[in-house]
Amino acid sequence: MPELDNNKLLVIDDQPDLCEFISEAARGMGFEAIAVTEPDAFRRAVQEFQPTVVVLDLQMPGADGIELLRYLGERGTKAQVLVASGMDQRVLATAQQLGRSQGLNMLGALQKPILLADLEATLRQCMRADTPLTPEALTAAIERREIQVHYQPKATRVAPGRWVVEGVEALARWHHPSLGAISPLRFISVAEKHGLIRRLTEQVIETALRQCRVWDAAGLQLSVAINLSPQLLNDLAFPDQVARMAAQVGADARRIIFEVTESAAMFDPGTTMDVLTRMRVKNFGLSIDDFGTGYSSLKQLYLMPFSELKIDTSFVRDVFAHEDARTMVETMVLLAHKLRLTACAEGVETQEILDFLDGVGCDRAQGYFIGRPMAGDVLEGAVKEWNAKQPQS
Ligand code: C2E
Ligand code: CA
Ligand code: CA
Repeated sequence: MPELDNNKLLVIDDQPDLCEFISEAARGMGFEAIAVTEPDAFRRAVQEFQPTVVVLDLQMPGADGIELLRYLGERGTKAQVLVASGMDQRVLATAQQLGRSQGLNMLGALQKPILLADLEATLRQCMRADTPLTPEALTAAIERREIQVHYQPKATRVAPGRWVVEGVEALARWHHPSLGAISPLRFISVAEKHGLIRRLTEQVIETALRQCRVWDAAGLQLSVAINLSPQLLNDLAFPDQVARMAAQVGADARRIIFEVTESAAMFDPGTTMDVLTRMRVKNFGLSIDDFGTGYSSLKQLYLMPFSELKIDTSFVRDVFAHEDARTMVETMVLLAHKLRLTACAEGVETQEILDFLDGVGCDRAQGYFIGRPMAGDVLEGAVKEWNAKQPQS
């Protein structure tokens, strides 16, 4: 597979602070960025760095912006070019025309002083749609608290045919300034690879616990499930840290469930077992997520101190398409119960599936039919509405 090109920005300006301003803004949006102040360094960078976007100051003492524009034209560069200057619009327009006549891909002009909003809007136009996410952009997003949390209802079967929402799963969301909403399936792996997962998870936990207090005040007592990555289960200090975080906001550990995937549980069995056991001792709930999709599901289940088993979507979705899927779901519910665990089915998209789960005595259900992941303030109304619709027993 050919490797994807990153968005790469090269800026030349004789003012180092302006260089810094532009390259920082670009990094925040996911660009790799280099800034230079000298024409020679610029020529070298054009050859070696191969930028996809060039920001060029037209007016530099000791360097001629027009000359550099010509240089780009002669090299036949494919980069998008943005000119910046304190000169009036007419000069900028002429420079653009000149660039075009050299065969350059002129993107526009930035009038100095450059406003951050204008700069971001312009850079947004030159990002590739299939932009790979950089660790720098994710770091900036975590620092700026751009990672949000959505909550998906988890309904509990309190009596046959009566499913009451008593908890939620917290799901991370990244609203990227230029790419829009990015799936956690894409950015969690970046966070794991670049040592950012701990900070990200802390933010998700903090946000979710704060949200719980808001719901409490509105008369809605909900448990909250948090997804944990493998690395965190190798950190012996983690259980104490989450216990402190919960104590700080006065949250009872019994209300917090950590969801762990089987592959996560297998990462380093010794330490993982230690961390998970400490969590259970502190009364946190532990859920084995995506059950049935890993490689040694049964062994992990038998070894680790889980309190809930989440039946993977792939089985739940198919209960009416394949008899075998029905058998699997039914058996997983039975297995959970024999091991004194709660069974939770994921990916419940229809009333029929919920009825089937009801019939096999599944304890919890989660899926679009009950509610999609949503913002905390929206969830409150949705949950109250769902619960009010449930038959009284
Ligand atoms: P997951 O833990 O298995 O979460 C359930 C995923 O299934 C969510 O996708 C949810 O939106 C989706 N889903 C829920 N109900 C239905 C349904 O009825 N039908 C279908 N087709 N899909 C449904 P999402 O939010 O994109 O999250 C994807 C994965 O990202 C999660 O899978 C979880 O493994 C990971 N993730 C999310 N937030 C975090 C986080 O804060 N930390 C870590 N480590 N991982 C996270
Ligand atoms: Ca999960
Ligand atoms: Ca899952």
